[in-house]
Amino acid sequence: MGDQRKKSAKAFKKAEKVIPGGVNSPARAFSAVEMDPIFIEKGEGAYLYDIDGNQYLDYVNSWGPMILGYNPPQVIKKLKEQLKKGTSFGAPTEIETEIAELIVDFYPAVDKVRMVNSGTEATMSAIRLARGYTGRDKIIKLEGCYHGHGDSLLVDAGSGAATLGIKGSPGVTENTAKETIVVPYNNQQAVEKVFTEYGSEIAGIILEPVTGNMGVIGPEPGYIDFLRKITRKNGALLIFDEVMTGFRLARGGAQELYKIEPDLSTFGKIIGGGMPVGAYAGRREIMDYVAPVGPVYQAGTLSGNPMAMQAGLATLKELKNKKIYTQLEAKAEKLEKGFKKNIEELEFPAYFNRVGSMFTLFFTAKKVKNYQDVKSCDQKLFAAYFRNMIEAGIYLPPSQFEANFISLALSEENLDQTIAANYQVLKKLKAEL
Ligand SMILES: *Cc1c(COP(=O)(O)O)cnc(C)c1O
Repeated sequence: MGDQRKKSAKAFKKAEKVIPGGVNSPARAFSAVEMDPIFIEKGEGAYLYDIDGNQYLDYVNSWGPMILGYNPPQVIKKLKEQLKKGTSFGAPTEIETEIAELIVDFYPAVDKVRMVNSGTEATMSAIRLARGYTGRDKIIKLEGCYHGHGDSLLVDAGSGAATLGIKGSPGVTENTAKETIVVPYNNQQAVEKVFTEYGSEIAGIILEPVTGNMGVIGPEPGYIDFLRKITRKNGALLIFDEVMTGFRLARGGAQELYKIEPDLSTFGKIIGGGMPVGAYAGRREIMDYVAPVGPVYQAGTLSGNPMAMQAGLATLKELKNKKIYTQLEAKAEKLEKGFKKNIEELEFPAYFNRVGSMFTLFFTAKKVKNYQDVKSCDQKLFAAYFRNMIEAGIYLPPSQFEANFISLALSEENLDQTIAANYQVLKKLKAEL
């Protein structure tokens, strides 16, 4: 194993000397799967190619954005056009209004949108706005949800922090952390208890309505409805972090799927079409609390950057076509059926969970409903599964605490190949159990 990735191994050694851990985001480290990260040369449709020339079927989608696959011609065309005009002006362009209009169109809960440069910035700003608007300090966050690395939200966070077993982070002051109250996902009583104790101090609840950053877990029936009611009753804001789920689970995100109007929504990933973008959005009276109209300050030199806006806009224009979501659902369903059949036939202790085109194969025999359930998964077994899938030419997120993504570029044959690889790998692991 590994001989066919000599160049990656060398590139990693070199990177480690000048970049902490050799990666610019911990989620890219392969430490949990006991491998060196794979260095990428290029992407094309459903495939990634590493610098050693190996080809992989991709289920990471750059962690979500590449819903159309790599290098969709419509997006590349717009980027090329913009390149000729200039890459940044620090002044308004019409593209920004156009993309905001699209988001407003697809999200009934959204009247106004402010563009930023990452999902982290989006949630950080949304939290500041929620606090400023309500005049309250405390935030409720759900265990295992990841909302970027802003101080207030880096408490019991998912994704890379969960993979590395980091509960909080040095550098986040105790005073900041204590304003964030963490409760388990899918647990109504825990939220009720917090409101009973702190009711008038709670600025809002932020959540991934369907989680991706502790693996894919959907809300139990009634849970989201309950959150909407209890926040409204207590004058707190309901904040949907749709950085991952926005334009992914449906054109109108999880809020369309569960028919709930949050007060604030955050976006990222897909809305940048592969460029660095984030956004926070919501009802007019809340969004008008942001500078320059309102007192809550938030700014950005490269916010609404024309290259990023072009990539995002071209992507969202493709997603206007609702048929895309029917196609994604069909692909995802095919994969689900295949994986579940494999698990059943091999009597393998695994639990497959999927919402739309996001899925996770959990290495546990029981149903996964929250972060504690994910933590009880067999990480060693996951790591072995991951490495074997890589050998089979299938590129997955290198952690049990992540979502896998299905892109539009995956063909029937690609899915069949993946299901067959899944069978062979599970069979091999089962024999070793
Ligand atoms: C990825 C993600 C973020 C952070 O976005 P970045 O662009 O990585 O800063 C925030 N929230 C959710 C739900 C995410 O999936």
